[in-house]
Amino acid sequence: MPQVNLESASRGPSAHGDGRPYDYVVVGAGFAGSVIAERLAEGLGLNVLVIDRREHIGGNAYDHLDAAGVMVHRYGPHIFHTNAQRIVDYLSRFTQWRPYEHRVLAQVDDHLVPIPINLTTLNTLFGLQMDEAQAERFLAERAQPVECIRTSEDVVINQIGQELYQKFFQGYTRKQWGLDPSQLDKSVTSRIPTRTTEDDRYFTDSFQAMPLEGYTRMFENMLDHPRIDVLLDTDFAQVREQLSYAQLIYCGPVDEYFGFRLGRLPYRSLRFEHKTLQQPQLQAVAVVNYPDEAVPYTRITEYKHLTGQQHPHTSITYEYPCADGDPYYPIPRAENAALYQRYKALADETPGVTFLGRLGTYKYYNMDQVVGQALALYQRIEQAGAPVPGTTAAVELLDERGA
Ligand code: FAD
Ligand code: UDP
Repeated sequence: MPQVNLESASRGPSAHGDGRPYDYVVVGAGFAGSVIAERLAEGLGLNVLVIDRREHIGGNAYDHLDAAGVMVHRYGPHIFHTNAQRIVDYLSRFTQWRPYEHRVLAQVDDHLVPIPINLTTLNTLFGLQMDEAQAERFLAERAQPVECIRTSEDVVINQIGQELYQKFFQGYTRKQWGLDPSQLDKSVTSRIPTRTTEDDRYFTDSFQAMPLEGYTRMFENMLDHPRIDVLLDTDFAQVREQLSYAQLIYCGPVDEYFGFRLGRLPYRSLRFEHKTLQQPQLQAVAVVNYPDEAVPYTRITEYKHLTGQQHPHTSITYEYPCADGDPYYPIPRAENAALYQRYKALADETPGVTFLGRLGTYKYYNMDQVVGQALALYQRIEQAGAPVPGTTAAVELLDERGA
Protein backbone atom coordinates (compact mmCIF):
# COMPACT_ATOMS: atom_id res chain seq x y z
CA MET A 1 0.00 0.00 0.00
CA PRO A 2 2.17 2.88 -1.17
CA GLN A 3 1.30 5.62 1.32
CA VAL A 4 2.01 9.01 -0.24
CA ASN A 5 2.05 12.61 0.95
CA LEU A 6 0.24 15.49 -0.74
CA GLU A 7 3.34 16.66 -2.57
CA SER A 8 3.84 13.26 -4.14
CA ALA A 9 0.11 12.80 -4.85
CA SER A 10 -0.01 16.13 -6.65
CA ARG A 11 2.72 14.84 -8.99
CA GLY A 12 0.48 11.91 -10.00
CA PRO A 13 0.67 8.13 -9.63
CA SER A 14 3.81 6.95 -7.86
CA ALA A 15 3.69 3.87 -10.10
CA HIS A 16 4.88 6.18 -12.92
CA GLY A 17 6.38 9.31 -11.41
CA ASP A 18 5.97 11.04 -14.78
CA GLY A 19 3.35 13.58 -13.72
CA ARG A 20 0.40 12.08 -15.58
CA PRO A 21 -3.01 12.32 -13.85
CA TYR A 22 -4.56 9.56 -11.76
CA ASP A 23 -7.27 7.66 -13.60
CA TYR A 24 -9.40 7.76 -10.48
CA VAL A 25 -9.38 9.56 -7.16
CA VAL A 26 -11.42 7.68 -4.55
CA VAL A 27 -12.51 9.61 -1.46
CA GLY A 28 -12.90 7.33 1.57
CA ALA A 29 -10.81 4.28 2.52
CA GLY A 30 -13.71 2.30 4.01
CA PHE A 31 -15.38 -0.71 2.38
CA ALA A 32 -16.83 1.29 -0.52
CA GLY A 33 -13.61 3.12 -1.43
CA SER A 34 -11.19 0.25 -0.81
CA VAL A 35 -13.17 -2.30 -2.83
CA ILE A 36 -13.63 -0.02 -5.84
CA ALA A 37 -9.97 1.07 -5.70
CA GLU A 38 -8.75 -2.53 -5.61
CA ARG A 39 -10.99 -3.52 -8.52
CA LEU A 40 -9.98 -0.56 -10.70
CA ALA A 41 -6.27 -1.16 -10.03
CA GLU A 42 -6.18 -4.93 -10.25
CA GLY A 43 -9.05 -5.52 -12.68
CA LEU A 44 -8.47 -2.69 -15.15
CA GLY A 45 -4.86 -1.69 -14.47
CA LEU A 46 -5.86 1.88 -13.62
CA ASN A 47 -3.93 4.23 -11.34
CA VAL A 48 -5.91 5.17 -8.27
CA LEU A 49 -5.42 7.59 -5.40
CA VAL A 50 -7.41 6.81 -2.24
CA ILE A 51 -7.84 9.72 0.19
CA ASP A 52 -9.19 9.62 3.73
CA ARG A 53 -9.41 12.38 6.27
CA ARG A 54 -8.87 9.93 9.10
CA GLU A 55 -5.34 8.81 9.92
CA HIS A 56 -6.20 5.21 9.09
CA ILE A 57 -7.78 3.03 6.43
CA GLY A 58 -10.86 0.81 6.98
CA GLY A 59 -13.51 3.50 7.55
CA ASN A 60 -15.88 2.61 10.36
CA ALA A 61 -14.72 -1.01 10.33
CA TYR A 62 -11.22 -0.02 11.51
CA ASP A 63 -9.81 -2.22 14.30
CA HIS A 64 -6.53 -2.07 16.17
CA LEU A 65 -4.73 -3.17 19.32
CA ASP A 66 -5.49 -0.73 22.13
CA ALA A 67 -2.98 0.39 24.77
CA ALA A 68 -3.50 -2.86 26.70
CA GLY A 69 -2.91 -4.96 23.58
CA VAL A 70 -6.56 -5.98 23.16
CA MET A 71 -8.00 -5.91 19.63
CA VAL A 72 -10.88 -3.39 19.57
CA HIS A 73 -13.10 -1.69 16.99
CA ARG A 74 -12.71 2.08 17.25
CA TYR A 75 -16.19 2.76 15.88
CA GLY A 76 -18.22 0.07 17.63
CA PRO A 77 -18.76 -3.66 16.99
CA HIS A 78 -18.56 -4.83 13.37
CA ILE A 79 -19.75 -8.36 12.66
CA PHE A 80 -19.57 -9.60 9.10
CA HIS A 81 -22.63 -11.50 7.83
CA THR A 82 -24.02 -12.09 4.36
CA ASN A 83 -26.08 -14.41 2.18
CA ALA A 84 -24.06 -13.54 -0.92
CA GLN A 85 -21.37 -16.12 -1.68
CA ARG A 86 -19.97 -13.81 -4.37
CA ILE A 87 -19.10 -11.27 -1.69
CA VAL A 88 -17.54 -13.87 0.59
CA ASP A 89 -15.45 -15.12 -2.35
CA TYR A 90 -14.27 -11.62 -3.16
CA LEU A 91 -13.29 -10.69 0.41
CA SER A 92 -11.66 -14.09 0.93
CA ARG A 93 -8.90 -12.96 -1.46
CA PHE A 94 -7.76 -10.62 1.30
CA THR A 95 -8.47 -12.47 4.52
CA GLN A 96 -9.07 -15.79 6.17
CA TRP A 97 -12.03 -16.02 8.50
CA ARG A 98 -12.80 -16.90 12.08
CA PRO A 99 -16.25 -18.52 12.32
CA TYR A 100 -18.35 -16.44 14.69
CA GLU A 101 -22.11 -16.34 15.33
CA HIS A 102 -23.25 -13.17 17.03
CA ARG A 103 -25.44 -13.39 20.12
CA VAL A 104 -26.86 -10.41 21.99
CA LEU A 105 -28.53 -10.15 25.39
CA ALA A 106 -30.83 -7.34 26.50
CA GLN A 107 -31.09 -6.07 30.06
CA VAL A 108 -34.86 -5.93 30.71
CA ASP A 109 -36.73 -6.02 34.04
CA ASP A 110 -33.68 -7.30 35.96
CA HIS A 111 -33.22 -10.13 33.46
CA LEU A 112 -30.58 -10.64 30.79
CA VAL A 113 -32.52 -12.17 27.93
CA PRO A 114 -31.85 -12.95 24.27
CA ILE A 115 -32.64 -10.28 21.66
CA PRO A 116 -34.08 -10.90 19.02
CA ILE A 117 -36.94 -11.97 21.28
CA ASN A 118 -37.15 -15.80 21.25
CA LEU A 119 -38.71 -18.61 23.28
CA THR A 120 -36.13 -18.21 26.08
CA THR A 121 -36.81 -14.46 26.25
CA LEU A 122 -40.55 -14.97 26.67
CA ASN A 123 -40.29 -17.82 29.18
CA THR A 124 -37.73 -15.93 31.29
CA LEU A 125 -39.56 -12.60 31.35
CA PHE A 126 -42.98 -14.05 32.06
CA GLY A 127 -41.91 -16.99 34.25
CA LEU A 128 -43.45 -19.53 31.86
CA GLN A 129 -42.42 -22.82 30.33
CA MET A 130 -44.01 -22.54 26.93
CA ASP A 131 -43.10 -24.64 23.91
CA GLU A 132 -42.91 -23.20 20.42
CA ALA A 133 -46.61 -23.59 19.59
CA GLN A 134 -47.64 -22.01 22.89
CA ALA A 135 -45.27 -19.12 22.33
CA GLU A 136 -46.79 -18.52 18.92
CA ARG A 137 -50.25 -18.30 20.49
CA PHE A 138 -48.87 -16.10 23.28
CA LEU A 139 -47.52 -13.59 20.77
CA ALA A 140 -50.60 -13.79 18.55
CA GLU A 141 -52.76 -12.82 21.54
CA ARG A 142 -50.56 -9.82 22.24
CA ALA A 143 -50.01 -8.63 18.68
CA GLN A 144 -52.06 -5.60 17.69
CA PRO A 145 -52.61 -5.86 13.94
CA VAL A 146 -51.76 -2.66 12.06
CA GLU A 147 -53.46 -2.40 8.69
CA CYS A 148 -50.87 -0.35 6.86
CA ILE A 149 -47.38 -0.85 8.26
CA ARG A 150 -45.35 2.29 7.61
CA THR A 151 -43.30 3.05 10.70
CA SER A 152 -40.87 1.26 12.99
CA GLU A 153 -43.55 1.32 15.68
CA ASP A 154 -46.14 -0.34 13.38
CA VAL A 155 -43.81 -3.24 12.56
CA VAL A 156 -43.23 -4.20 16.17
CA ILE A 157 -46.71 -3.54 17.57
CA ASN A 158 -48.14 -5.61 14.73
CA GLN A 159 -45.92 -8.55 15.68
CA ILE A 160 -45.70 -8.50 19.46
CA GLY A 161 -47.95 -5.75 20.88
CA GLN A 162 -47.41 -2.77 23.19
CA GLU A 163 -45.83 -4.33 26.26
CA LEU A 164 -42.91 -6.05 24.54
CA TYR A 165 -42.55 -3.09 22.17
CA GLN A 166 -42.03 -0.79 25.13
CA LYS A 167 -39.66 -3.13 26.93
CA PHE A 168 -37.37 -3.86 23.99
CA PHE A 169 -37.83 -1.30 21.23
CA GLN A 170 -39.24 2.04 22.20
CA GLY A 171 -36.56 3.21 24.65
CA TYR A 172 -33.66 1.77 22.65
CA THR A 173 -34.87 3.38 19.45
CA ARG A 174 -35.54 6.76 21.05
CA LYS A 175 -31.99 6.76 22.41
CA GLN A 176 -30.38 5.44 19.24
CA TRP A 177 -32.09 7.78 16.81
CA GLY A 178 -33.31 10.70 18.93
CA LEU A 179 -36.73 9.91 17.43
CA ASP A 180 -39.70 7.80 18.47
CA PRO A 181 -40.11 4.59 16.41
CA SER A 182 -43.33 6.12 15.06
CA GLN A 183 -41.16 8.74 13.33
CA LEU A 184 -38.85 6.23 11.62
CA ASP A 185 -39.29 4.15 8.50
CA LYS A 186 -40.39 0.55 9.10
CA SER A 187 -37.06 -0.70 7.71
CA VAL A 188 -35.24 0.21 10.95
CA THR A 189 -36.88 -2.13 13.47
CA SER A 190 -37.61 -4.64 10.68
CA ARG A 191 -33.93 -5.53 10.99
CA ILE A 192 -34.77 -7.36 14.22
CA PRO A 193 -37.02 -10.43 13.86
CA THR A 194 -39.15 -12.10 16.56
CA ARG A 195 -38.82 -15.86 17.06
CA THR A 196 -40.68 -18.53 18.93
CA THR A 197 -37.80 -21.01 18.71
CA GLU A 198 -34.70 -21.17 20.89
CA ASP A 199 -32.50 -19.79 18.10
CA ASP A 200 -30.63 -16.96 19.83
CA ARG A 201 -28.40 -15.84 16.97
CA TYR A 202 -28.57 -12.15 16.08
CA PHE A 203 -28.20 -12.91 12.38
CA THR A 204 -29.38 -15.93 10.39
CA ASP A 205 -27.27 -15.27 7.27
CA SER A 206 -25.59 -18.26 5.66
CA PHE A 207 -22.12 -16.77 6.22
CA GLN A 208 -21.17 -15.18 9.55
CA ALA A 209 -17.53 -14.65 10.46
CA MET A 210 -14.83 -12.22 11.50
CA PRO A 211 -11.68 -11.52 9.46
CA LEU A 212 -9.10 -13.76 11.13
CA GLU A 213 -6.48 -11.04 11.61
CA GLY A 214 -8.98 -8.19 11.81
CA TYR A 215 -10.59 -5.77 9.37
CA THR A 216 -7.62 -3.42 9.14
CA ARG A 217 -5.31 -6.22 8.00
CA MET A 218 -7.90 -7.17 5.37
CA PHE A 219 -7.98 -3.55 4.11
CA GLU A 220 -4.18 -3.43 4.06
CA ASN A 221 -4.15 -6.50 1.84
CA MET A 222 -6.81 -4.97 -0.41
CA LEU A 223 -5.00 -1.69 -0.87
CA ASP A 224 -1.53 -3.21 -1.13
CA HIS A 225 -1.22 -2.71 -4.88
CA PRO A 226 1.45 -0.91 -6.92
CA ARG A 227 -1.24 1.10 -8.75
CA ILE A 228 -2.94 2.32 -5.55
CA ASP A 229 -1.58 5.32 -3.66
CA VAL A 230 -3.09 6.12 -0.27
CA LEU A 231 -3.18 9.63 1.19
CA LEU A 232 -4.37 9.72 4.81
CA ASP A 233 -5.15 12.54 7.24
CA THR A 234 -6.33 14.60 4.30
CA ASP A 235 -9.73 16.12 3.58
CA PHE A 236 -10.57 15.98 -0.10
CA ALA A 237 -12.14 19.45 -0.07
CA GLN A 238 -8.81 20.94 0.97
CA VAL A 239 -6.69 19.28 -1.71
CA ARG A 240 -8.97 18.83 -4.70
CA GLU A 241 -7.42 21.75 -6.60
CA GLN A 242 -3.94 20.30 -6.21
CA LEU A 243 -4.80 16.90 -7.63
CA SER A 244 -5.01 15.88 -11.22
CA TYR A 245 -7.36 13.04 -12.17
CA ALA A 246 -9.90 11.91 -14.75
CA GLN A 247 -12.70 10.56 -12.53
CA LEU A 248 -13.80 10.86 -8.93
CA ILE A 249 -15.56 8.31 -6.74
CA TYR A 250 -16.87 9.95 -3.61
CA CYS A 251 -17.72 7.83 -0.54
CA GLY A 252 -18.13 10.74 1.89
CA PRO A 253 -21.48 12.42 2.71
CA VAL A 254 -23.15 13.49 -0.53
CA ASP A 255 -24.60 16.69 0.99
CA GLU A 256 -21.14 17.73 2.15
CA TYR A 257 -19.74 17.29 -1.38
CA PHE A 258 -22.28 19.82 -2.63
CA GLY A 259 -21.57 22.29 0.20
CA PHE A 260 -24.97 21.50 1.81
CA ARG A 261 -26.56 23.67 -0.85
CA LEU A 262 -29.96 21.95 -0.55
CA GLY A 263 -29.77 21.72 3.24
CA ARG A 264 -28.20 19.13 5.54
CA LEU A 265 -29.03 15.45 5.30
CA PRO A 266 -29.54 14.31 8.90
CA TYR A 267 -27.13 11.70 10.26
CA ARG A 268 -27.08 10.13 13.71
CA SER A 269 -23.77 10.08 15.52
CA LEU A 270 -22.31 8.12 18.42
CA ARG A 271 -19.86 8.84 21.18
CA PHE A 272 -17.77 5.78 21.97
CA GLU A 273 -16.40 5.32 25.46
CA HIS A 274 -13.60 2.74 25.36
CA LYS A 275 -12.36 1.10 28.56
CA THR A 276 -9.99 -1.68 29.57
CA LEU A 277 -10.88 -3.68 32.68
CA GLN A 278 -8.35 -5.52 34.82
CA GLN A 279 -10.27 -8.79 34.55
CA PRO A 280 -10.42 -11.41 31.81
CA GLN A 281 -14.14 -11.07 31.04
CA LEU A 282 -17.09 -8.74 31.73
CA GLN A 283 -20.17 -10.24 30.11
CA ALA A 284 -21.38 -13.56 28.70
CA VAL A 285 -21.70 -12.37 25.10
CA ALA A 286 -20.08 -9.79 22.83
CA VAL A 287 -22.92 -7.28 23.06
CA VAL A 288 -25.42 -6.45 25.81
CA ASN A 289 -28.23 -4.03 24.87
CA TYR A 290 -29.81 -1.61 27.34
CA PRO A 291 -33.25 -0.66 26.00
CA ASP A 292 -34.20 1.26 29.18
CA GLU A 293 -34.38 4.95 28.31
CA ALA A 294 -33.06 5.85 31.76
CA VAL A 295 -29.68 4.27 30.89
CA PRO A 296 -27.80 6.78 28.72
CA TYR A 297 -25.97 4.26 26.53
CA THR A 298 -27.53 1.75 24.15
CA ARG A 299 -25.08 -1.14 24.36
CA ILE A 300 -21.81 -2.45 25.75
CA THR A 301 -19.49 -4.45 23.52
CA GLU A 302 -16.76 -6.78 24.75
CA TYR A 303 -14.44 -7.50 21.84
CA LYS A 304 -12.72 -10.69 22.98
CA HIS A 305 -15.93 -12.60 22.17
CA LEU A 306 -15.66 -11.42 18.56
CA THR A 307 -11.97 -12.02 18.11
CA GLY A 308 -11.35 -15.03 20.34
CA GLN A 309 -8.25 -13.27 21.67
CA GLN A 310 -6.74 -14.69 24.87
CA HIS A 311 -5.66 -11.87 27.20
CA PRO A 312 -5.68 -11.40 30.98
CA HIS A 313 -7.60 -8.11 30.56
CA THR A 314 -10.66 -7.18 28.56
CA SER A 315 -11.64 -4.08 26.59
CA ILE A 316 -15.18 -2.80 26.22
CA THR A 317 -17.04 0.05 24.52
CA TYR A 318 -20.14 1.96 25.62
CA GLU A 319 -22.16 3.60 22.83
CA TYR A 320 -23.82 6.93 23.57
CA PRO A 321 -25.94 8.11 20.63
CA CYS A 322 -25.80 11.84 19.89
CA ALA A 323 -26.78 14.40 17.26
CA ASP A 324 -23.39 15.98 16.58
CA GLY A 325 -20.19 14.27 15.55
CA ASP A 326 -19.08 11.94 12.76
CA PRO A 327 -21.98 10.91 10.50
CA TYR A 328 -22.50 7.22 11.37
CA TYR A 329 -26.12 6.51 10.49
CA PRO A 330 -28.28 7.92 7.67
CA ILE A 331 -31.72 8.33 9.29
CA PRO A 332 -34.37 6.36 7.37
CA ARG A 333 -37.55 8.44 7.16
CA ALA A 334 -39.57 9.88 4.30
CA GLU A 335 -38.47 13.53 4.45
CA ASN A 336 -34.78 12.53 4.50
CA ALA A 337 -35.27 10.20 1.54
CA ALA A 338 -36.92 13.07 -0.33
CA LEU A 339 -34.01 15.41 0.37
CA TYR A 340 -31.56 12.70 -0.66
CA GLN A 341 -33.42 12.30 -3.97
CA ARG A 342 -32.77 15.98 -4.66
CA TYR A 343 -29.06 15.51 -3.95
CA LYS A 344 -29.09 12.42 -6.15
CA ALA A 345 -30.57 14.44 -9.02
CA LEU A 346 -27.73 16.92 -8.54
CA ALA A 347 -25.24 14.04 -8.45
CA ASP A 348 -26.61 12.55 -11.65
CA GLU A 349 -26.01 15.77 -13.53
CA THR A 350 -22.48 16.23 -12.19
CA PRO A 351 -20.07 14.77 -14.75
CA GLY A 352 -16.99 12.87 -13.65
CA VAL A 353 -18.19 12.02 -10.13
CA THR A 354 -19.86 8.84 -8.85
CA PHE A 355 -21.21 8.59 -5.31
CA LEU A 356 -20.86 5.32 -3.44
CA GLY A 357 -21.24 3.78 0.01
CA ARG A 358 -23.31 4.41 3.10
CA LEU A 359 -22.62 8.14 3.16
CA GLY A 360 -22.36 8.74 -0.60
CA THR A 361 -25.77 7.18 -1.30
CA TYR A 362 -27.36 7.89 2.12
CA LYS A 363 -28.34 4.27 2.75
CA TYR A 364 -28.40 2.33 6.04
CA TYR A 365 -26.26 -0.42 4.49
CA ASN A 366 -24.39 -3.23 6.20
CA MET A 367 -20.81 -3.96 5.18
CA ASP A 368 -21.73 -6.71 2.73
CA GLN A 369 -24.24 -4.47 0.99
CA VAL A 370 -21.58 -1.79 0.56
CA VAL A 371 -19.17 -4.37 -0.89
CA GLY A 372 -21.97 -5.49 -3.25
CA GLN A 373 -22.62 -1.90 -4.26
CA ALA A 374 -18.92 -1.30 -5.01
CA LEU A 375 -18.61 -4.53 -7.01
CA ALA A 376 -21.72 -3.57 -9.02
CA LEU A 377 -20.23 -0.17 -9.81
CA TYR A 378 -17.03 -1.88 -10.92
CA GLN A 379 -19.00 -4.16 -13.24
CA ARG A 380 -20.62 -1.14 -14.87
CA ILE A 381 -17.28 0.56 -15.33
CA GLU A 382 -15.77 -2.61 -16.74
CA GLN A 383 -18.65 -3.17 -19.15
CA ALA A 384 -18.55 0.43 -20.32
CA GLY A 385 -14.89 -0.12 -21.20
CA ALA A 386 -14.05 3.35 -19.93
CA PRO A 387 -14.66 5.51 -16.90
CA VAL A 388 -18.41 5.93 -16.47
CA PRO A 389 -19.68 9.46 -16.01
CA GLY A 390 -21.29 10.27 -12.69
CA THR A 391 -24.55 8.50 -12.09
CA THR A 392 -25.75 6.54 -9.13
CA ALA A 393 -28.88 5.11 -10.72
CA ALA A 394 -27.98 1.45 -11.25
CA VAL A 395 -26.14 1.20 -7.98
CA GLU A 396 -29.18 2.52 -6.14
CA LEU A 397 -31.26 -0.49 -7.09
CA LEU A 398 -28.89 -2.99 -5.65
CA ASP A 399 -29.52 -4.91 -2.47
CA GLU A 400 -26.98 -7.70 -2.47
CA ARG A 401 -28.57 -9.55 0.40
CA GLY A 402 -31.62 -10.03 -1.76
CA ALA A 403 -33.86 -10.02 1.30
P1 FAD B 1 -17.31 4.43 5.91
O1 FAD B 1 -16.79 3.22 6.56
O2 FAD B 1 -18.01 5.48 6.73
O3 FAD B 1 -16.11 5.12 5.12
C1 FAD B 1 -16.19 6.42 4.59
C2 FAD B 1 -14.81 7.05 4.74
O4 FAD B 1 -14.80 8.28 3.98
C3 FAD B 1 -14.46 7.42 6.17
O5 FAD B 1 -13.28 6.75 6.56
C4 FAD B 1 -14.32 8.94 6.14
O6 FAD B 1 -13.27 9.39 6.98
C5 FAD B 1 -13.99 9.20 4.68
N1 FAD B 1 -14.38 10.54 4.23
C6 FAD B 1 -15.61 11.10 4.25
N2 FAD B 1 -15.57 12.34 3.73
C7 FAD B 1 -14.27 12.59 3.38
C8 FAD B 1 -13.59 13.71 2.82
N3 FAD B 1 -14.23 14.84 2.48
N4 FAD B 1 -12.26 13.60 2.61
C9 FAD B 1 -11.58 12.46 2.94
N5 FAD B 1 -12.19 11.38 3.48
C10 FAD B 1 -13.51 11.45 3.70
N6 FAD B 1 -22.20 -3.37 9.26
C11 FAD B 1 -22.24 -4.74 9.30
O7 FAD B 1 -22.32 -5.38 8.24
N7 FAD B 1 -22.15 -5.40 10.49
C12 FAD B 1 -22.04 -4.76 11.69
O8 FAD B 1 -21.96 -5.40 12.74
C13 FAD B 1 -22.00 -3.33 11.67
N8 FAD B 1 -21.91 -2.64 12.83
C14 FAD B 1 -21.85 -1.28 12.80
C15 FAD B 1 -21.73 -0.59 14.01
C16 FAD B 1 -21.69 0.80 14.02
C17 FAD B 1 -21.55 1.52 15.33
C18 FAD B 1 -21.74 1.51 12.78
C19 FAD B 1 -21.70 3.02 12.78
C20 FAD B 1 -21.88 0.84 11.58
C21 FAD B 1 -21.93 -0.56 11.57
N9 FAD B 1 -22.04 -1.28 10.38
C22 FAD B 1 -22.09 -2.66 10.41
C23 FAD B 1 -22.11 -0.60 9.07
C24 FAD B 1 -20.73 -0.44 8.43
O9 FAD B 1 -19.92 0.38 9.27
C25 FAD B 1 -20.88 0.21 7.06
O10 FAD B 1 -21.72 -0.56 6.23
C26 FAD B 1 -19.56 0.37 6.32
O11 FAD B 1 -18.51 0.77 7.15
C27 FAD B 1 -19.77 1.43 5.24
O12 FAD B 1 -18.59 1.58 4.49
P2 FAD B 1 -18.39 2.91 3.64
O13 FAD B 1 -17.10 2.77 2.93
O14 FAD B 1 -19.61 3.21 2.84
O15 FAD B 1 -18.35 4.10 4.71
N1 UDP C 1 -33.51 -2.14 18.23
C1 UDP C 1 -34.19 -1.98 19.44
N2 UDP C 1 -33.79 -2.73 20.52
C2 UDP C 1 -32.76 -3.59 20.46
C3 UDP C 1 -32.08 -3.76 19.25
C4 UDP C 1 -32.47 -3.00 18.15
O1 UDP C 1 -35.10 -1.18 19.53
O2 UDP C 1 -32.45 -4.23 21.50
C5 UDP C 1 -33.95 -1.33 17.07
C6 UDP C 1 -33.27 0.04 17.09
O3 UDP C 1 -34.15 0.98 16.48
C7 UDP C 1 -32.07 -0.20 16.22
C8 UDP C 1 -32.67 -1.10 15.15
O4 UDP C 1 -33.58 -1.96 15.87
O5 UDP C 1 -31.54 0.98 15.71
C9 UDP C 1 -31.68 -1.92 14.36
O6 UDP C 1 -30.84 -2.65 15.25
P1 UDP C 1 -29.39 -3.12 14.81
O7 UDP C 1 -28.82 -3.92 15.92
O8 UDP C 1 -29.48 -3.75 13.47
O9 UDP C 1 -28.64 -1.72 14.71
P2 UDP C 1 -27.11 -1.36 14.33
O10 UDP C 1 -26.26 -2.55 14.65
O11 UDP C 1 -27.14 -0.99 12.88
O12 UDP C 1 -26.81 -0.18 15.21
